[in-house]
Amino acid sequence: MITYQEAIRIIDEHAQVLGRGIRPVTECSEYFLGEDVVALNDSPPFDCSAVDGYGRRAEDLASPILALAGQVRAGDSGDVRLQVGQCVRILTGAPVPPDVAAISMQEDCRETEEGVQFLENAQAGQHIRGAGSDFRQDDLLLVRGSRMNPASVGIAVSGGHQRLEVMVKPRIHVITTGDELVSAGEPLNRGQIYNSNEAALGDALRNLSSRTHFWHCQDDPAALKDRLFVALHEEDVILTVGGVSVGSHDYVKEVLGDLGAEEKFWRVSIKPGKPIYFGIKGKTVVFGLPGNPVSALVTYFLFARPAILKMMGHPDPWPKPVKARFEGEARKNPGRMEFLRGTISGDGSRAIAKGGQDSHMLSGLATANCLIHFPLEATELNTGDEVEVTMLNWGLS
Ligand code: AMP
Ligand code: MG
Repeated sequence: MITYQEAIRIIDEHAQVLGRGIRPVTECSEYFLGEDVVALNDSPPFDCSAVDGYGRRAEDLASPILALAGQVRAGDSGDVRLQVGQCVRILTGAPVPPDVAAISMQEDCRETEEGVQFLENAQAGQHIRGAGSDFRQDDLLLVRGSRMNPASVGIAVSGGHQRLEVMVKPRIHVITTGDELVSAGEPLNRGQIYNSNEAALGDALRNLSSRTHFWHCQDDPAALKDRLFVALHEEDVILTVGGVSVGSHDYVKEVLGDLGAEEKFWRVSIKPGKPIYFGIKGKTVVFGLPGNPVSALVTYFLFARPAILKMMGHPDPWPKPVKARFEGEARKNPGRMEFLRGTISGDGSRAIAKGGQDSHMLSGLATANCLIHFPLEATELNTGDEVEVTMLNWGLS
C-alpha cells in the first residue's frame, strides 16, 4: 500500500494537460485561456454620454439658455451638428456629436418655452466617456492561463472577440456499479439503495468536463468490459465507482487489466478510500473510486479532481492544506492517514471533527467544509493540537 503523498506524485506524473481548442466565447465558462486576449477595438469605441442630459459647444459652456437642436439616443450615429447658441438632448450611451464639448445632467437643466435652461456652468469634457477609456485597441485584456469568469467573457466580447483559444476540458465517463443501486426518485425495494454517487459526481464535475457521460452497470463483468472497452478509446478520464475492493463482486480492476489498462496503484493508506485504484491506458486516466459514498467523494476530491483540473490547464491544481488547532478528541491506529470530515470555525483557527465518520455517512460530509488530516503514524488528536486541514472547495479554485 502506498501513502497519500506517493499517490499524488504518481497521479501528477500521469495526468497531462490535454491541449488547446477554439470555442465560441459564450461557451468558455470556467475554461482556462490558451492564449493572451488582446483588444481588437477601443472600448467604448466612440466618445459617449455617461448621463441623460444636454450637450453644448465649447463656446457655450457658460451660456444659461440654449436652443434645442435635436436629440441623440444610444444607437444613433450622433452626427447632429450644433451652431453656437444651440444644444442637443443626449441620452446615456449615445455617441457625442462632434460639436459637443460637455454634457450637463438633465437634473441640472430645465426645458422651457425659450429653450433649455442650464442651471450650472459646464467643465469641458464633463460626463463624456472618452473612446478607449476602458481599454484601447491592442491592449492586453486577459492573460493566457487565467480562468474565464463572467467578467472576462464580457471583456472579451467588448474587445471584439467571438471565439477564444482555451485549454480543452476532458471528456469524462462516470460508471457506477452495483446490483443494489436505483436511480434517484425510483421506488426502493428492500435491499436497494439510491445511486447517490452518480448524482454527487455529476454535480462535482459540472464545470470540469467538456461533456460527461454516465452509465450504470449491474454487477456483470462482461457488461462492464464492453462499456470500458469503448470508454477507454473515447474518454480522457474514466471514473468507475464501486467494485474495486476485495469482495467477490469486485471485478473492476481485473476487467481493466484484461483491457490493457496499466495499474499505477491500487490501495492507498488512507481512510476513507483505501481501495482506490489508478491506472492509465494510452492517454486515458482511470480512477477506480470505492463505492461507499464518503469514500467515493473524498477520493474524488483528493485525487481525481486535481488530476482533472491539471488536465484542463489549472496551473496549481493540488489542494494546499492550511494549519488550524484541533478541537475535540480522536483516536486511531498508526499506519493509515485519516481525513476527518470537519468544520473550520468562523475565524479559521479551530478545526472541529464531525460526528459520523463512517465511510457510508454522507451526513458528516454534507455539512463539512474541510478535511482534517490525522497523520499516518499519529494515534490521537486532542484539543489544541496543530493539524493540517484541506478546505473542501468543490469548485474550480
Ligand atoms: P462496493 O465498493 O461496490 O463494494 O460498495 C461499497 C458500498 O458502497 C456498498 O454498501 C454499496 O452499496 C455502496 N455503493 C456502491 N456504489 C454506490 C453508489 N453509486 N451510490 C451509493 N452507494 C454506493
Ligand atoms: Mg458493489
